Amino acid sequence: MAEELTEYKGPATMEKITSLAKRRGFVFQSSEIYGGQNGAWDYGPMGIELKNRIAANWWKAMTQLHDEIVGLDAAILMHPRTWEASGHVENFTDPLVDCKKCKTRFRADMIPDENLANKTCPECGGELTDTRKFNLMFRTHIGPTEDNAGLIYLRPETAQGIYVNYKNIIQSNRMKIPFGIAQIGKAFRNEIVTKNFIFRTCEFEQMEMQYFVKPGTDVEWFNEWKKRRWAYYEKLGVKMDHLRWHQHGPDELAHYAKDAYDIQYLFPMGWRELEGVHNRTNYDLTRHTEYSGKDLQYIDQDNNNDRYIPFIIETSAGLTRTLLMLICDAYDEEKVADKGDADDWRTVLRFHPVVAPVTAAILPLMKKDGLAELAQDIRNELKEDFATDYDQAGAIGRRYRRQDEAGTPFCVTVDYQSKEDGTVTLRYRDSMEQIRVPRAELTEKIRQEIKQYKRKS
Ligand code: ATP
Repeated sequence: MAEELTEYKGPATMEKITSLAKRRGFVFQSSEIYGGQNGAWDYGPMGIELKNRIAANWWKAMTQLHDEIVGLDAAILMHPRTWEASGHVENFTDPLVDCKKCKTRFRADMIPDENLANKTCPECGGELTDTRKFNLMFRTHIGPTEDNAGLIYLRPETAQGIYVNYKNIIQSNRMKIPFGIAQIGKAFRNEIVTKNFIFRTCEFEQMEMQYFVKPGTDVEWFNEWKKRRWAYYEKLGVKMDHLRWHQHGPDELAHYAKDAYDIQYLFPMGWRELEGVHNRTNYDLTRHTEYSGKDLQYIDQDNNNDRYIPFIIETSAGLTRTLLMLICDAYDEEKVADKGDADDWRTVLRFHPVVAPVTAAILPLMKKDGLAELAQDIRNELKEDFATDYDQAGAIGRRYRRQDEAGTPFCVTVDYQSKEDGTVTLRYRDSMEQIRVPRAELTEKIRQEIKQYKRKS
């Protein structure tokens, strides 16, 4: 086995990623004109395309490619008892300390032990407060009065919406164990420390799948889902030496979990969690049985109507965190000329074409002589099948660079020869290779290229 990387050695830095994301319309600070809102970000025209495609790709992998997994879109606002049953009211806390001098707030588990022991601030050396528990759930009120009767939480995870619907889904869709329920949606956590751009935010999106299995088969399914989730990233063309498993030790393991592994990614700031694969046992459904008074046992009609509370294997990935991972993973700087100026280098996002915000950009070599009209016409044809962009401004080399930086895998250039023989130039983002393709074959050619795409560097 290759030796594990200890630190990030690629060309990306979080500053470069943040600035590119803003410059090219991927991610903006929330409410920027008011000075920004901590922990919240807005996804611009390129960002929402990327996010939608990541979500669609995950959705396809989980539902379309698995006969026994169905989808759900549960409400963000849930009955408050849900969060008592799940243990979040009691346990979903982070340990918090404040510096009395510089007022900086820290998660106690994220500062060096010696600072915690002698109560000194790692920033300014000032005195730290005692550690106290801080619940991460956002609370609000439903209805016209702000009293406890109307207390309601913004969901801190999408999973509970699945558990409370599991019986509905068995009944409406005649599901048989083992089966899964997938969901993508917003989650909210009042995170104490939000840094590293969109890595840890207060409002984010999750892609979760809960797999219901017979007790005793849980370990086998847990291992199977670890394999499937690893293969998912491989298929997406992620640099596999930037991924690793991290098993939760006894101090990290959630109160409900029997075993838990994180898939970590080597971000520019180091190895960090990307996704969790958890064996949640029968904890959640047992608790919901207790708190709701409803019988949530599964009745196994193929086995003498055996009754049991299923075990749950969960795969839980952050959608917005995956987006950050994919930008970091795709980011590259490449020397493409030797003229001694800034144009020698190009910045390129090597996204897999299935997630790239724009699949094909159509570029007329010149605006005049009918080339722009011909290019528009080709774009109109391609747009039925692909996300396209059209750009006629500036030198062709500059336009290629702009598309490279946005991660567009294919450029279609329309030139004088196109008018004569009906062919266009297809330029590949990664290799910068150019080939001529008859216009009539373009859609099929691009479709094939997407299917066969293999990342080279
Ligand atoms: P951490 O220990 O980093 O706070 P966690 O272990 O509590 O995270 P989970 O509850 O397992 O995270 O959430 C599943 C996934 O949801 C994470 O792997 C991550 O991708 C995503 N996620 C969790 N919290 C956030 C957040 N504050 N911002 C963005 N994504 C998040």
